[in-house]
Amino acid sequence: MAPGGIHHGIHHVTAIAGDAHRNIDFYTRTLGLRLVKKTVNFDDPATYHLYYGDETGQPGTILTFFPWERAAPGRLGGGELQETAFRVPQGAIGYWTHRLIAHGVPEQTREERFGESVLAFRDPDGMRLALVAVAGIEAEPAWAQGDIPAEHALRGFHGVSLLSGDGSATGAVLSDVLGFTETARDGSLTRFQVPGLALGGIIDLRRASGFPGGRLGRGTVHHLAFRAADDAAEAGMVRRLAENHGIHTTEQKDRTYFRSVYFREPGHALFEIATDMPGFAVDEPAALLGQALKLPPFLEPRRTEIEGALPTLA
Ligand code: ZN
Repeated sequence: MAPGGIHHGIHHVTAIAGDAHRNIDFYTRTLGLRLVKKTVNFDDPATYHLYYGDETGQPGTILTFFPWERAAPGRLGGGELQETAFRVPQGAIGYWTHRLIAHGVPEQTREERFGESVLAFRDPDGMRLALVAVAGIEAEPAWAQGDIPAEHALRGFHGVSLLSGDGSATGAVLSDVLGFTETARDGSLTRFQVPGLALGGIIDLRRASGFPGGRLGRGTVHHLAFRAADDAAEAGMVRRLAENHGIHTTEQKDRTYFRSVYFREPGHALFEIATDMPGFAVDEPAALLGQALKLPPFLEPRRTEIEGALPTLA
């Protein structure tokens, strides 16, 4: 936590999946996340928008998907998220190595980055994921309703690695606007961090000059969202982007669970700034998150038509 109680870091990561049912199965059963919201893409209501997180879906734990059943596989390229990493307590990597094999995820890579133990693997759509062992998070709450012991459960995001077409300009936005500081270098990676052990507090930038552009599709990340405490904090960040970096965001959009602006950062990735307020319990009880299909008020009149067009998840 930064002085004054202002939290910075990743708010959520949004990616593209293929089959929705397979996506739910992998993230809730294999990885043990909670489905905290089942809604539609507000800009394309024929597509689900599925949100996974911890018990309440607090910022820094939220991975979301647009499942497009007929999506072609994507291709990683410059300006895209290379890998999304969750953190687990020290000592949990062995458990996860066995669990992933048992759940049909045989291709895993063990490596060290910045002195941390990393277990890299892919989801059923080929999205690059990792678990990183982090000391000192054992006592943090975890969503442990399934068969995963609480001592091994995922504790939100560790961070992401981003292929940047313009690392220094991307780094300037991370530092000047989004609350990060450069803390280390390891090979072609530059690590940016927010203070403390904050959830989703790490961005590793990989210089990607010469990388061909990516192609959005199954297994690729659509955008990366950063936290703003509230509307005023978000407006302040929007001003800094314009004044110091010449970057103009979209107008603020009401996403029901947070309020967002979007912009293309200098390394070509799509960034979002999302408020911590009001959170996922705004339209259903916290105990029942993710069970019913929730629609924003402007789509509620079309519920029958929308439900009829969505694939069945059972
Ligand atoms: Zn988003």
